[in-house]
Amino acid sequence: MLKIYNLKELSKSKIEEISSRALTDDKDIEVDVKVILEGVKSDGDEYLKSCNKRFDNYNGDNLYLELSTLQELASKVSEDLQLAIKTAITNIKKFHQTQLIKEERIETTKGVVCWRENRAIEKVGLYVPGGSAVLPSTFLMLAIPALIAGCKDIVVCTPPNDKGLVNPAIAFCAISLGIDKIYLAGGAQAIGAMAFGTPSIPKVYKIFGPGNRYVNFAKSLVQKWTAIDLPAGPSEVLIIADEFANPEFLAADLLAQAEHGSDSQVVLVSTSSDILDKTNRAIAEQFTNLPRKEIALNALKNSYGVLIDRLEDGFSFSNEYAPEHLILAVNNPESYTHLIINAGSVFLGNYTPESAGDYASGTNHTLPTAGNAKAYSGVSVDSFLKKITFQKINKEGINNLGNTIEILAEAEGLQAHKNSVTLRLK
Ligand code: NAD
Repeated sequence: MLKIYNLKELSKSKIEEISSRALTDDKDIEVDVKVILEGVKSDGDEYLKSCNKRFDNYNGDNLYLELSTLQELASKVSEDLQLAIKTAITNIKKFHQTQLIKEERIETTKGVVCWRENRAIEKVGLYVPGGSAVLPSTFLMLAIPALIAGCKDIVVCTPPNDKGLVNPAIAFCAISLGIDKIYLAGGAQAIGAMAFGTPSIPKVYKIFGPGNRYVNFAKSLVQKWTAIDLPAGPSEVLIIADEFANPEFLAADLLAQAEHGSDSQVVLVSTSSDILDKTNRAIAEQFTNLPRKEIALNALKNSYGVLIDRLEDGFSFSNEYAPEHLILAVNNPESYTHLIINAGSVFLGNYTPESAGDYASGTNHTLPTAGNAKAYSGVSVDSFLKKITFQKINKEGINNLGNTIEILAEAEGLQAHKNSVTLRLK
């Protein structure tokens, strides 16, 4: 199962190597994605239809589903699942609503007032993955903050199934959130369509959403045409466990990430070799019952455990790794949070499975992967807002600040800048 390293025996370069999530076939994917983006740019809808045939086995020509089809599909969702989606919506809304913060007006100098106001990005594109697993939860995680921010045009793309439809749960999410159209495009071609626009799919100002490496490469390449949220690729988790952790829980949480995709990675860092061994045994027992065990097994080949002397060493390792998800399976986890510098989302204690954040506790699950948590945050209401600064200066204010501006303008050799103040001071 997980190969085990001893942190003491690892050189700095080996730590960097095992912390890197670079994959060998990334170059090939980049070439494929460039071809796909060119195809979307030159042939628009016709190219999208050909991709639906080639990659998603849908031979029809529809590029979107409208309200009536979505309603019909949504009606097929079981009552249990409807209730679960509604509970998730309520919690995600509650958590994200607190992020709409009105900032104070500040008088920086007597008579000079500055402030910042939020404006929603008017046109946003949401990518809801739908390849190896259908992810209605991602739809909620993207659309709810977009709606709270007040985005006017919300374009949603997801791969079609072979009948040219989407999973009923995706349709139910759309109906529950008041979104009345879903575009049938997946992968790099969906990202290209939202970046360039096609006759059917509108161009947007910013594209959001996780996806596989085709999706992520496409997002990185279209930034000349549109903004993107963050690099959110194959899922990963790092767990820091002490000797009191529960190996069954650890194994379950590691497998929960491993089943996302063959290129997912899971890492267990522990002060106890006994916990590492017991977790490996628990993984072996639990994974045989999983429907996606082949995928999980591939991901486990790419994963490992690390034995550490002190928990503090685990936090240093984790900060270098910068995991998308960090689980603290330790006694009194809150006393360690100040040691966390780089992580997407953190789960504290033995009763906080990472799946809670995936679905229903309220936090967002679209998070930076591959070490990008060193510089990026996960999706939030802020991601859908622009911040515009305002200032108002009265006569007293320009009298108080004018000379400072004049001196600075002169130092930069910008006479017209200086004049715009001098004229007002007369
Ligand atoms: P996906 O929707 O991202 O990709 C499916 C699409 O990939 C297909 O529609 C097709 O267009 C394209 N594709 C497949 N094979 C191709 C090929 N050979 N050439 C060109 N295009 C091809 O769905 P997925 O594959 O299931 O991946 C979802 C990913 O999202 C997983 O890796 C998962 O871990 C990740 N994820 C990340 C987060 C996060 O916040 N970081 C959250 C949820 C999911």
